[in-house]
Parts: sequence; C-alpha cells; structure tokens
Amino acid sequence: YTAKRSRCGAALYDARTDSRSSEQLGLIGELHRAIAEGELVLHYQPKVATDSGRTVGAEALVRWQHPERGLLMPGDFIPQAEDDEIIVPLTDAVLDLALGQHRAWRDGGLLLPVAVNIAAGGLYDTAFPDRVAAALTRHDVAADMLTLEITETSIISDPNEVQAILVRLRDLGVRLSIDDFGTGYSSMAYLQSMPLTELKIDRRFVRAIHEQAGDEAIVQAILELARALDLTVVAEGVEQAEALAVLEAMGCPYAQGYHMSRPLPPADLVAWLHATVA
Ligand code: C2E
Ligand code: MG
Ligand code: MG
Ligand code: MG
Repeated sequence: YTAKRSRCGAALYDARTDSRSSEQLGLIGELHRAIAEGELVLHYQPKVATDSGRTVGAEALVRWQHPERGLLMPGDFIPQAEDDEIIVPLTDAVLDLALGQHRAWRDGGLLLPVAVNIAAGGLYDTAFPDRVAAALTRHDVAADMLTLEITETSIISDPNEVQAILVRLRDLGVRLSIDDFGTGYSSMAYLQSMPLTELKIDRRFVRAIHEQAGDEAIVQAILELARALDLTVVAEGVEQAEALAVLEAMGCPYAQGYHMSRPLPPADLVAWLHATVA
C-alpha cells in the first residue's frame, strides 16, 4: 500500500510522514477505536432536480461523534486519515453505513440512491472493487443505487492504475462521479478514457453564479463538456434561490446545497423529504 501511495507522490508522502506529530499519530489511534466503537456517523445531503425539486439521491458525508470533542467534521480527520493505511478500513466503514442506511430506507419504502466519497488512498487499492462488490452483496443493494465520488486529483496521480480500478467498479454497475470538478487538472483525454457517469461542479463556480458572468461561462462550458461525453451534472454549493434559478435556466439538471438542505442525520433527511413533497 505504501509503495503504491509513494508512486503517486513520493516526496509529498515522505514529507508528511516525517513531519507527522504525535498529535496526528494519536488521532489515527483514536480513529481505529472510533471505527471499532461505531463513533463514525453519516449525514446525508439531498441531490435534487433543478426543475422539479425532486430528490434523486443523497450524498453520505462522514462525521465523528467523538466522546470528548463532540461532533468532528471530515476536515478535522479525513486529511490525516488519507495519508495513512486507516483510510482503507475507514472507507469500508463508511460504505457499510451508507449501504445499510440505503437498505433500511428501502425496507421502509423509500428508494434513495446514495453517494459515498472515496479518498485517493481508498481508490489506489486493487482489492477495492472486490470490497465494494462484497458490501453490495452483504446489504443486498443493486450496484446502480451506489455512486462513488472521486476527485480529479486521485485520477491524475496514476491514471492507468485508476482507470483499471474504475473499469472494474463500472463493470459492477456502480456509478462514478468526479467531485469538485473544475478545480483539479484532469485533461480532456483522461475524462474521455475514464468510465464516468457524473461531474459535480465545484461550489466555487456555483455559489455566486447569479452575480458573476465568469462563473456562468465556466459552468456553461462544463455543461457542454458533460453533454459531449454523455455525463450527468450536479452543481454543488447552491446557497441561494437566485443561483438555483440560473442553473435551471442553463439546463444544469441536478443541484445540491444549503439552499435546498444542509447535510442531515438520516431521520431529519426523511422529515425534510416529507416536508418538501407535501
Ligand atoms: P465534498 O464531497 O465536496 O462535499 C461537499 C461539502 O460541502 C460538505 O462538507 C458539505 O457539507 C458542504 N456543502 C454542501 N452544500 C454546501 C453549500 O451550499 N455551501 C457550502 N459552503 N458548503 C456546502 P463536509 O461534510 O464538511 O465534507 C467536506 C469534504 O470531506 C467532502 O467534500 C469530501 O471531500 C470529504 N468527505 C466527507 N465525507 C467523506 C467520507 O466519508 N470519506 C472521504 N474519503 N471523504 C469524505
Ligand atoms: Mg462529495
Ligand atoms: Mg464536492
Ligand atoms: Mg467541494
């Protein structure tokens, strides 16, 4: 695993390992406990159709219910976890929670596709597709009910290896989304060669789209690119009704953001769904 990681950026990896503080090592140790004790929880943020407002899925976002420090956000521990082998069991734990939740919702009559974020370290692992397949089987969930969100950065660090892994995931029937699209360096060639289903436009182009002609131009270009490559598009970070209206007018099919809903605990998401349908 370490060898694979260092192939994607030996200098960066070594520097981070060497400078790792005892505080960070303590955090990794605590994370092992957190996974074992079930302290990781998922909140869910709806993906909605811009025209009808219909919810078409929910993105799982991890939080750590820490016994002393309260609810920790991914930014407090995912960056450190990504540089450590713990990202593998952490990814498995999140997948398990999300598929278990999907299954529980389905059993209650709510069919809601789920999306899970996958860190680069979780992706550069040839056993990953097998573990995804096993998790789908374990929860009896159809593969097309699961979207994996990956970032451009994880694709470009070793495109050949990632492509092979993505092809195996796609062969399972899992949907593959590029998260924070527009902020990395993925070339058109990579995009065309990867078996993707969705682009998620980074929120920096979305937040002020109703005020900034430059943002609108970039989103327009991404929409055209997505059409050419036959990919669906989600705009993330919609904070205002004005932004949503512009996206709908431009033909951006799906959106996510605080304007519609913040990420919510599962029960609150169900309540929100009932409130918006009514
Ligand atoms: P992301 O996948 O791009 O998720 C979107 C982030 O933006 C979430 O932050 C979400 O709460 C926030 N957000 C949603 N709508 C809005 C909005 O309208 N305005 C603004 N300003 N923010 C909005 P969160 O939950 O703190 O997650 C941050 C990042 O952590 C995620 O970015 C994702 O890269 C990573 N992450 C979250 N959960 C997991 C996980 O289970 N595994 C891994 N590997 N990474 C995760
Ligand atoms: Mg995401
Ligand atoms: Mg994103
Ligand atoms: Mg983002």
